[in-house]
Amino acid sequence: MEEWRDLMRSWGFTVHEAAGWRTRDAQPASRYDPTGMFLEHHDASSLLSGNWGALAYVTQKRLAQIVHARDGQITIVAAGVTHHAGVGGPFLDIPANGANTKSVATEVANSGSERYDPRLTRSIIAAEKAWCVVAGRGADRVRGHKEWATPKGRKQDPSIDMNARRADVAAFATTAGEDWFDMATPQELEAIVLKVVRGEGLSGAGDAPLMLKRGYEKAIRDQVTAVLRSEGVSGAGDVSRIVAAIRAELPAEGGAGYSLADVEAATERAVRKVAADASA
Ligand SMILES: [Zn+2]
Repeated sequence: MEEWRDLMRSWGFTVHEAAGWRTRDAQPASRYDPTGMFLEHHDASSLLSGNWGALAYVTQKRLAQIVHARDGQITIVAAGVTHHAGVGGPFLDIPANGANTKSVATEVANSGSERYDPRLTRSIIAAEKAWCVVAGRGADRVRGHKEWATPKGRKQDPSIDMNARRADVAAFATTAGEDWFDMATPQELEAIVLKVVRGEGLSGAGDAPLMLKRGYEKAIRDQVTAVLRSEGVSGAGDVSRIVAAIRAELPAEGGAGYSLADVEAATERAVRKVAADASA
């Protein structure tokens, strides 16, 4: 969840951490694989419950890993297995009634009949995209509770058209200006990172492993991590700062229009800035 959290924050979303979330687990001894599916729910809370809906209840009863507020803010409430999927499936390699130990869930504050604030919609799509990136999965594994639950019709949540949701998740990279991570080839990205670190005078780039897993963004972070670590100026914080700095250096209205040159220049400025801070 740390990697998911950091990615969401690097995209500009507000992610709170509920006290005790790291050790909150409905099945303490279980083997948990959170990469099988992302399941979206709504909490059926009324508007009178306020921005965070059923947050306290969901936390106490361990009903999801994530809660989305009506305004799009996020709280991580649990790191381990939670009780959210119940009877349902099977789906792909997830056995019938076996999703809790193989999925991540968000409970979205929504009555089921109220409209979604655009900020909330964007935050949900981003959360699902971030899960895809971290888990190394496609948007096909983002599902709604109503799709998982059996018999069909037992659950109505979320009210969202999940085919449209998945399309939005798949397209998030473009609409959110993240497209350069997804559009560049692995060779282009490797070239960017190597050019940047060599330009900074950091040696050892040739020794760094060029791992490309879980999508290009992770590859960039892994690569920068490896190089900085070899220079003794490393740390996960440095890498997160670089990723955030790259985004900050890119033109705000980039949209689908970032060129390789834009990205190279932004990355170069970002790495230089972070490396200078680290050695100061
Ligand atoms: Zn549900």
